[in-house]
Amino acid sequence: MEAALSPEPHFVVIPWPTTSHIIPLVDIGCLLAAHGAAVTILTTPATAQLVQSRVDRAQAGSSAGKITVTSIPYPSVEAGLPAGCERLDHVPSPDKVPAFFDATMRFGDAVADHCRLLNASSSPSRRPKCVIAGMCNTWAHGISSELGVPCFIFHGFSAFALLCCEYLHTHKPHEAAASLDELFDVPVLPPPFECRFARRQLPLQFLPSCSIGQDSLRELREFELAVDGIVVNSFEELEHGSAARLAEATGKTVLAVGPVSLCHGAPAPDASDDARRCMAWLDAKKTQSVLYVSFGSGGRMPPAQFMELGMSLVSCPWPVLWVIKGADSLPDDVKKWLQEHTDADGVADSQCLAVRGWAPQVPILSHPAVAGFLTHCGWGSTLESVAAGVPMAAWPFTAEQFLNEKLIVDVLGIGVSVGVTKPTEGVLTGVGGEPAKAEVRMEQVKRALEKLMVGGTEGEDRIRKVQELKAKAKAALETGGSSYMNLEKLVQSVV
Ligand code: UDP
Repeated sequence: MEAALSPEPHFVVIPWPTTSHIIPLVDIGCLLAAHGAAVTILTTPATAQLVQSRVDRAQAGSSAGKITVTSIPYPSVEAGLPAGCERLDHVPSPDKVPAFFDATMRFGDAVADHCRLLNASSSPSRRPKCVIAGMCNTWAHGISSELGVPCFIFHGFSAFALLCCEYLHTHKPHEAAASLDELFDVPVLPPPFECRFARRQLPLQFLPSCSIGQDSLRELREFELAVDGIVVNSFEELEHGSAARLAEATGKTVLAVGPVSLCHGAPAPDASDDARRCMAWLDAKKTQSVLYVSFGSGGRMPPAQFMELGMSLVSCPWPVLWVIKGADSLPDDVKKWLQEHTDADGVADSQCLAVRGWAPQVPILSHPAVAGFLTHCGWGSTLESVAAGVPMAAWPFTAEQFLNEKLIVDVLGIGVSVGVTKPTEGVLTGVGGEPAKAEVRMEQVKRALEKLMVGGTEGEDRIRKVQELKAKAKAALETGGSSYMNLEKLVQSVV
């Protein structure tokens, strides 16, 4: 006689509504399902399709368990946002950021109601056994406490950046700095690694002011302190023991379960025109010849800086695939320059392809034509580059990206620094007013790209190191690998 099987544990996954958080946390949901969990992903109506398409892609041909995608109405208009504005990267201006946090708080009430319904289900398999929530969904801990189940937080940061943040929260060296530019130690890794930063290069919560507001920042920290554990999109072999150090520093379970982009198996671009155009253009290029340039889901530069970058890209000797966000809001003269100097139509023999929409980044990075990546050091992009074995040139914009640059360039030796010292203004930093001057000149960008693309012995060393990490990344998610075992641990911990 067969023993009665206990139902698979039900994880409720609630991404923080920002594209770059949704992508990896949905992938974590897919990985949990592949490890035998039942997963419900709670999202907003305008984002449901993005979530569903990732789930469908991960599940195609795999034996992954059941994933339910549920949309909960998001109160954009009630909070004073444009209708359909349901992601932070769609917020039109810094002054609307508090409204977005307000909308997300109200969204939390509706999510709590839905979780109560799930918990009241007559079917034991529908009752949540664990909540995994994005870092700004601070209400998630209240929901998990009410349900009596553990709550894990997902920041979207590297373990190294989280470790630096924990040090900053505890020791506050930035508060003793005489200016925003004075460098101070954040000694989170043993020698020979030196980690020195200026206050203006730190994540938003450590800046003197930002558009999120002090109350929201306090709630964020309370949430971090309250959760049972931290899920990280990384793998243990990557960050010099940062995950274990973070566990020690916080007293919490820290599980590195990535690189989660590998959950889709062989990367396939979606069917959009932009995606087809990028891949056809790459197909026509020589192996290891292309520089890929992209600054994440939102990364926009002031026009003066944009022009310095643009002039360096169109004059460099390699084919360049340049992804541009916010192209519509560039001044007319910059738009005209772009039209005249880059290829807008995807002609296969063009030297610089400018993509104004959404590029299929993971398939691009895995394409044999791509030799280097000029990145803003967002953690998603960084890890995708590692997983594809592509060395980077680091141009951090904001948030924890200067910390990631340190990891890429100095700790891991898989990238070169462009030499940016100040953050680029954005919707969260809320710096506005005078049109910003270009901090980085064309020649400086060209020097960094030259190092990246034809770096001599040092360049070969970077390629060797990133290729080794690529192999380790893949192994981490294979049966018995570190991330595989951490996913098992997470699922088993709530069975
Ligand atoms: N991304 C993409 N196409 C784009 C821009 C971004 O696929 O045109 C994806 C990228 O692959 C990554 C995420 O969006 O998964 C960006 O995350 P990251 O942490 O690098 O940066 P952020 O958007 O948070 O600044």
